[in-house]
Amino acid sequence: MIRQFELVERVKSYDPGADEDLLNRAYVFSMKAHGSQSRASGDPYFSHPLGVAEILTRLKLDSASIATGLLHDTVEDTEATLEQVQNVFGKEVAQLVDGVTKLSRLELQSDNTKHAENFRKLVLAMSNDIRVLLVKLADRLHNMQTLHFIKNADKRRRIAAETMEIYAPLAERMGMHQLKDELENLAFAELNPDAYQSIMQRLSYLREQGADISNKIIVELSKTLKEADVAAEVSGREKTPFSIWRKMQKKRMEFEQLSDIMAFRVMVKDIGQCYQALGALHGKYSMIPGRFKDYISTPKPNNYQSLHTGIIGPQRMRIEVQIRTDNMHEIAEMGVAAHWGYKQGATKIDGRQYRWLRELLDILEHASGPEEFLEHTKLEMFQDQVFCFTPKGDLIALPRGATPVDFAYAVHSQVGDTCVGAKINGRIMPLRTELQNGDQVAIVTSKAQTPSPAWERFVVTGKARACIRRFIRTQQRAQYLELGRAMLQKEFAHAGYEYTEKAVDGVLKKFKAEEIEDLVTQVGEGLVGAREVVNAIFPGNKTQVVPNDKIVPLKRDTKKAKGGHAIPIRGLIPGMAMHFAGCCHPLPGDRIVGIVTTGKGVTIHTIDCETLESFADTPERWLDVAWDQDKNSAEQHTGRLDVVIANQPGSLGSLTTVIGKNQGNISNLKIINRSIDFFEIIVDVEVKDLKHLSNIIAALRATPSVNSVDRARG
Ligand code: MN
Repeated sequence: MIRQFELVERVKSYDPGADEDLLNRAYVFSMKAHGSQSRASGDPYFSHPLGVAEILTRLKLDSASIATGLLHDTVEDTEATLEQVQNVFGKEVAQLVDGVTKLSRLELQSDNTKHAENFRKLVLAMSNDIRVLLVKLADRLHNMQTLHFIKNADKRRRIAAETMEIYAPLAERMGMHQLKDELENLAFAELNPDAYQSIMQRLSYLREQGADISNKIIVELSKTLKEADVAAEVSGREKTPFSIWRKMQKKRMEFEQLSDIMAFRVMVKDIGQCYQALGALHGKYSMIPGRFKDYISTPKPNNYQSLHTGIIGPQRMRIEVQIRTDNMHEIAEMGVAAHWGYKQGATKIDGRQYRWLRELLDILEHASGPEEFLEHTKLEMFQDQVFCFTPKGDLIALPRGATPVDFAYAVHSQVGDTCVGAKINGRIMPLRTELQNGDQVAIVTSKAQTPSPAWERFVVTGKARACIRRFIRTQQRAQYLELGRAMLQKEFAHAGYEYTEKAVDGVLKKFKAEEIEDLVTQVGEGLVGAREVVNAIFPGNKTQVVPNDKIVPLKRDTKKAKGGHAIPIRGLIPGMAMHFAGCCHPLPGDRIVGIVTTGKGVTIHTIDCETLESFADTPERWLDVAWDQDKNSAEQHTGRLDVVIANQPGSLGSLTTVIGKNQGNISNLKIINRSIDFFEIIVDVEVKDLKHLSNIIAALRATPSVNSVDRARG
């Protein structure tokens, strides 16, 4: 275990301006908070945050990150609270600790590896400060280094798989090769111990056999470069067991066939020297075609730069050589951590948090190639996504702005069609609530529920919208069909016949309709007049188009059939085939009549509405309708009142009080006339039915400051 002053010294070695006081306080705070807790290894728990902080010093991170490493488990695993951390260490550190804590909680929610890609994106999306991710990666690395202490094999395996699927690729995407290599190797050893062991054995055998070969190669390469006047440092590097194994898998090769388990590195001082060194090597040795890559002129998406080449080198050995400058090396090993240099001078972070994220996302955006996990994900899409969990821990990716309804449809269209409510993180929330990253969403469904056209206004996914529209279309068609049938029945009766489908069947051709239902629906929509259809079937004294046997004359004594065809009016949904007139605002209990409007369905008016006068000449457009309201329905209707009140203090107040006391909800209020003595006001009130509105009218009439109350007409 590194000691307190050693840690501080190490930070100061690369950052002379380090906040020593902060580091010391974080050290002590964490040690006290973790107290006597211990790890699977038997070590005091504090050894873990300290190990994480130590890893972060290797990445040369700033004091706030190191302090976060020390404190990262205090909020989740000890009595300490985020408020305490903020009070003692300030906002910056508190935010970082909070970020890491949130990521740790996420891990517990999901069987992550099943949704590796989404989970990686989620982790990125949640890391609004890149340092959160760096601390998380260091945390994971230390847990992997101490993984063998965990007794439960399943747990070890799960953690290793998660590391392989989620954290190593994240480290790679951020260009942190060293960290990625370590994570992969530790995970590989756990996941595939046999392969790991045999590669290790082969490596040590080759090491014994070829120790001097490798040295001879280094010496000869150095000599070649010196002769060409290139000041270079040559080193040999053994590839990691996991990268060897992956190569064996990918190229389907035996271990013996792998020529390049050794890689050589040439370090020079500037870019010019890189190309000079390359020239010297290619001048002396044969280059292996297809192995040369210039990542200096074209850096990798994560900013990696180097020249790569393969040559038949000294000792006639096929070797791989990387040529790079010191600066390129630092970026190659440490990626973003090197790139953003939190070192000295990194004072204020105003606006920088955003920049870090931007730049990281930039890197991700330019990712290319099949191995890169974000290949299908453009930056905009990525920033525009939220990731939520089902109660079982499945991850669902949705566009930003998505609601529980979108979530429900993403799970299954059946779930969407029947959803009545949603629990977000255990709390009942409105269906229009915007989902946040990491939300756990449980959809409440009911078989009686159907999609509401109102949902269309807030859903954002194509699937949800398409499902809702499809439902409305079918629903509308069913309503138009019902309407058309009622209208035809009425016309038939008018002509003295009984309505039969057979009769309609005979005139389908004339109206260019294929099915009976199509024609009836068109009548309902008002596209074809019911009278036209009836006239076509019964063309007066002319020859009948429809054979006699298909026509049933109406029996004179069944006149009541005319009134028996009233179309039931239930809760009307906007956008459907029927709607309430804005002039008379019919309420359940009112006597009503429907007026057919071409292509727009039917408008429901009260029977005494003045507007109806203008339809006096077109009785064929009139339709018999009747309320069919469920008594227990919570549905509200708008009633419109014309109220005259005294122009005196408090009269408007008593108006609203009386309406409120009678459970009426005022949805609109407009003064239309104003004199010295009186105000005339139009008041829209949400009520259950006519009786409810009548009660309110009676109560208002009993109010002294109210002069008169009437339902508004026309
Ligand atoms: Mn931890």
